[in-house]
Amino acid sequence: MASNRTFTMIKPDAFEAGNSGAILKMIEEAGFKIVAMKATKLTPELAGKFYEVHQERPFYADLCKYMSSGPIIAAILEKDNAVEDFRALIGATNPANAAEGTIRKIFAKSIEANAVHGSDSDENAAIEGSFYFSQTERVL
Ligand code: ATP
Ligand code: MG
Repeated sequence: MASNRTFTMIKPDAFEAGNSGAILKMIEEAGFKIVAMKATKLTPELAGKFYEVHQERPFYADLCKYMSSGPIIAAILEKDNAVEDFRALIGATNPANAAEGTIRKIFAKSIEANAVHGSDSDENAAIEGSFYFSQTERVL
C-alpha cells in the first residue's frame, strides 16, 4: 500500500530567490498537508550523507557544495499517494524536461539548482524525514 507521507526540501537556489512561499503555496494547493517543517542549512558533510546514493556520480561533489551553499526548508508532507503525487507536482529533474505547470518548470534554474527535492520511494521518504526531524519534532 502506498504511504501517505513524503519528504521535501526547498533547495538553496529557490530559498535564495525568495520563492519558498510561492512553492509552499503550490504544495498546499495540490492537497499536501505540512506535518513538520523547518528552515535550516546543511554542512557539506551532511549534504554528502543525504545524497550518498549518488556518491559515484560525476556531479556528486558539485551537488554537495550546492546543497550546502545556503539555507533550505525541509518538510514532511502528507497526502494520499504522497510520493508519486509529489514527484508529479515537482516535475522532471532537468527543468528543460519538466512538464508545464510543475514546480521545477516554474522555479528551477538548472538540472542541479532545481528548486525542490522529492523522495523517490516510501522507504526513502521515511529515512529522509528522520534525517531532518527528531521524534519530538514529528508530533503530527
Ligand atoms: P531529488 O532527489 O533532489 O528530488 P531527483 O530525484 O529528480 O532529485 P536524482 O537523480 O535523485 O534526481 O538527483 C539528485 C539531485 O542531483 C538532482 O535533484 C540535482 O540537484 C542533482 N543532479 C542530478 N543529475 C544531475 C546532473 N546530471 N548534473 C548535475 N546535477 C545533477
Ligand atoms: Mg532523487
